Amino acid sequence: MRAVEFIAKKRDGGEHTEEELRDFIGKVTEGSLPDYQVSAWLMAVFLRGMTMQETCALTRAMRDSGERIDLSDLPNGPTLDKHSTGGVGDKTSLVVAPLLAAAGIPILKMSGRGLGFSGGTIDKLEAIPGLRTALGREEAKQQVRSIGLAILSQSSQLAPADGKLYALRDVTATVESIPLIASSIMSKKLAGGAERILLDVKVGSGSFMRELEQARALASTLVTIGVQEGVPTQAVLTDMEEPLGWTVGNALEVEEAIRVLQNADAAEPRFLALCLGLVEHGLLACERAKNPQEAQNIAEQLLRSGTGAAKLEAMIRAQGGPKALEAVLTALPRAPITYGVEAPEDGFIAAIDARVVGLLAVALGAGRSTKEDRIDPAVGIVLHKKRGAWVHAGEPLATLHLQDTQESQRDHFKTMLLSAYRFAAEPVVLPPSPLLEVLSSV
Ligand code: URA
Repeated sequence: MRAVEFIAKKRDGGEHTEEELRDFIGKVTEGSLPDYQVSAWLMAVFLRGMTMQETCALTRAMRDSGERIDLSDLPNGPTLDKHSTGGVGDKTSLVVAPLLAAAGIPILKMSGRGLGFSGGTIDKLEAIPGLRTALGREEAKQQVRSIGLAILSQSSQLAPADGKLYALRDVTATVESIPLIASSIMSKKLAGGAERILLDVKVGSGSFMRELEQARALASTLVTIGVQEGVPTQAVLTDMEEPLGWTVGNALEVEEAIRVLQNADAAEPRFLALCLGLVEHGLLACERAKNPQEAQNIAEQLLRSGTGAAKLEAMIRAQGGPKALEAVLTALPRAPITYGVEAPEDGFIAAIDARVVGLLAVALGAGRSTKEDRIDPAVGIVLHKKRGAWVHAGEPLATLHLQDTQESQRDHFKTMLLSAYRFAAEPVVLPPSPLLEVLSSV
């Protein structure tokens, strides 16, 4: 089918066949279609949607656009890949992956970089001096054989069609489409060889899906693709209204993740609950616990015993970073200027808009507006109070970590941060846990 007819079919609400989608994705991968035609089709999909059959066929075509990794020869399987749909302050993988590896589950996790308001695990890890994330396939598998855990950046050979489509989606306002997000995520997970998939589907202002209904639809699409492709998949819907944990910014978040694994009592309670909840689901998905109560006990024990911290330490060392976590904490880059932000009024903190804080992090240089931007690992934001807390006017709310060159803009950044806050005279009722709902194929 000619490209114009293919675009027109979707524009008019038609349903693509698997063959048509394979042909189109083949051309996208080889670069034989102009960007304007691919972009026009993306907008047609954004506006018209896709049937489940089309979404699965698109995912398979994207999965097959590059190399596929076979992890079935790794011992102690099944292997697990945990993935978040993207959030603000989301250092969850740096806590959850080591804990699951400490439970004996082989974890070979491919992660991405941050874009726009949402951060990325690879940017966070690369804040650690010397640490390499560009591991080859065999090197990563060897690391999993020896220490049980590797977190690496996605190779450009893995689902390369997604790289091309994502770059165009990013600049044509077509990111927030359920079939496009689901096929993007699942094509990479399936090409990466995951035998179990645990998805953290974020809901709220700091995520692609602001409403629960939309997030449910995304989660259900992701799980259905997993089922169709024979990979047991769980999706957990989690709250992303306020930034996760105490910090937003790459080195700051690495430090926070290490401290959570070293001393859970210092962790921000909702962030800790999210991490433990995800570990519990991972344990159940990989049959390392018989029931939720047992999974909860194991997760707590892994955290309190320090075995998760030891796994993270081993991974950082294996990937070229400092040998001990204390040395990592010393080596992390630090911004030279800290600037306090105080509460402008008395009240309960009713909201800290995660998207606004994420965009502030980008403005500080901790994130990127375009894929080519370089990031500054040292800058960021430390929150001292979270939603629900009572504050007096003048009490410290947050601290900005800035470079010398940013000193003149500090009041602008402060105003931007304060615009994220809403205060209330009455106590604020929060959902009891950041884990809202679970969808499971098993
Ligand atoms: N993460 C991805 O990998 N792809 C998307 O489209 C959105 C989030």
